[in-house]
Amino acid sequence: MTGFKVGEFLMSHDNILDYFKQLAISSPRVKYEVYGKTHENRLLTLAIFSSEANIKRNEEIRQQHPQLSDPYNSSKLNPVDLPFVVWLNHSVHRNEPSGANSALLTAYYLAAATGKEIDDLLDKTIILIDPAANPDGIQRFSTWANGHKSYMTNPDPASTEHNESWPGSRYNHYGFDLNRDWLTLVQPESEFRIKKFLEWRPNVLIDLHEMGTNSTYHFSPGDPNRVSPLISSANQLLAHKLADNYAKAFDKAGSFYFSGERFDDYFDGKGATYPDINGSVSSLFEQSSARGFVQESENGLLNFPFGIRNKFIGSLSTINTAYTFKNEFLEYQRNYFISAINESKKRKTKSLYFRSRLRSQYDLCICKTP
Ligand SMILES: [Zn+2]
Repeated sequence: MTGFKVGEFLMSHDNILDYFKQLAISSPRVKYEVYGKTHENRLLTLAIFSSEANIKRNEEIRQQHPQLSDPYNSSKLNPVDLPFVVWLNHSVHRNEPSGANSALLTAYYLAAATGKEIDDLLDKTIILIDPAANPDGIQRFSTWANGHKSYMTNPDPASTEHNESWPGSRYNHYGFDLNRDWLTLVQPESEFRIKKFLEWRPNVLIDLHEMGTNSTYHFSPGDPNRVSPLISSANQLLAHKLADNYAKAFDKAGSFYFSGERFDDYFDGKGATYPDINGSVSSLFEQSSARGFVQESENGLLNFPFGIRNKFIGSLSTINTAYTFKNEFLEYQRNYFISAINESKKRKTKSLYFRSRLRSQYDLCICKTP
């Protein structure tokens, strides 16, 4: 329906919206909703995937799941009975396009795959896909890359296609890096996203990015010497479970990768760490970037579709691994908030209160004691 295959051109924000709208019309396993608007009035959207029965009662599940993060009432719930929630956050840096373009493949798989394996998974799992976390940047970069694509693709790093003019598409309309705004909530995209995050409280959140052309593929955990003191060892154990299975998936696919180095888990205001200090377990995906359709690299020619393929493999591995260990993730989330109360009892400071300048309902309060 876009008129081209995934990877042939870059999906514009309009293409992405059209695709997800059509998918939700075509499949009872999909609900597609708008959760906010950008400075340029583009829509922030979230697609919800699960079994047909779960989609019909998705609002009931959405109201029930965050109760696991309520330390005063979560003991009444049996975590094993609750659906497990995964959030895939695509291309908040839009000149890192393999994420948003892979979202269409992951979505199609979740909507259309058949068999007992996928039926069992969707029966117990809610998958939230934000296909375009920076809509204004996505529109800008797709216009640049598609507009400078040659009939014969040019892999020369000096080609215009690979060198977007200032100010570039990493940022939003006003040049803010939305991946540094998860705590400060200065921009509307962040404000709407955190509201939605707190409504769902996912167990796992994956933030999909790209990095330099001469690299391979990175997944969390990052450098063990650069972990926020607010991120627990229990969190890191679960992050390693995800990582072990990413390694197996990429070994099988024949893609190079690395983990446990270079990237930090220290700054709490980004997509790969903010969820960690809110009871989720997050992972950062970094794919080497063709920054267009094909580019020469130290590892040979790097194609845009190769990056999309890797992101698709990583996304499916996330969903399958999280499903396999779902009870551990659910227990972890409940214990995370109960332990916060217990920890606060040992300290003089009983609570930390953050007030957003935007709207009072987004205020965050942690370690509140009765
Ligand atoms: Zn990035």
